[in-house]
Amino acid sequence: MRRKVCIVAVLLATLISAAYAESYLPAPMIETARPPMVALTFDDGPSAHTNRILDLLERYGGRSTFFVSGPRVQANANTIIRAFNMGNEIANHSWTHQNMRLQSREEIIYEIQRASEIQRSSSAIASVTGMSPPMLRPPFGMSDERVVNVATELGYSIIKWTLDPIDWRYRDADVVYNSIMSQVENNAIILAHDTRPTTADAMERVIPRLIERGFQLVTVSELLYSIYGRLEPGRIYGSYTAAK
Ligand SMILES: [Zn+2]
Repeated sequence: MRRKVCIVAVLLATLISAAYAESYLPAPMIETARPPMVALTFDDGPSAHTNRILDLLERYGGRSTFFVSGPRVQANANTIIRAFNMGNEIANHSWTHQNMRLQSREEIIYEIQRASEIQRSSSAIASVTGMSPPMLRPPFGMSDERVVNVATELGYSIIKWTLDPIDWRYRDADVVYNSIMSQVENNAIILAHDTRPTTADAMERVIPRLIERGFQLVTVSELLYSIYGRLEPGRIYGSYTAAK
């Protein structure tokens, strides 16, 4: 009897993991991803400066990931549609940009789900969102066990970063450019903010220079799939260190 229960458990686990794998399809362009590669990620937009970054990605050939925030999505729906149609990735950065460590479980769920609904309903993204795995970057990179538990329940992976030019603080294109170019390495996940004009200024040089140095600019899910083969809900990707 015990053995039967055991076999049933194994069968169930197999079925669940098969269904699971199916719901997390690789990003559509993963076949073309090759090292050395980096994932540029932009938080808090879209804003009036996002189109400049999209122009650069278009001109030099590259994709990136936008962790979009709350009502800005509604206000800049055309930018989001353009970004997505270019092969960029749109991911969840919460609804009201609060420190989730200070929120209740119910508030965390609301933040993630509300942001996701608006992303889907604001544009044609609704029909294609399923092609990218659900990814959450908690505001300020702040997460704890409760945030991880909610992310796991909702099927979200948590994406932090490996390289932080602290562009929101320095607001200086030279500093941002030098910080990125002196630290960049294969598989870097670079944190930046498309809400800052100085970040867009820095990207005028960062993007062509990265391409010149042989880096392929991929979405964060493409990069993570190429390393891990899949994305696990509730797992934290990227080694985040707090900005000082
Ligand atoms: Zn943010």
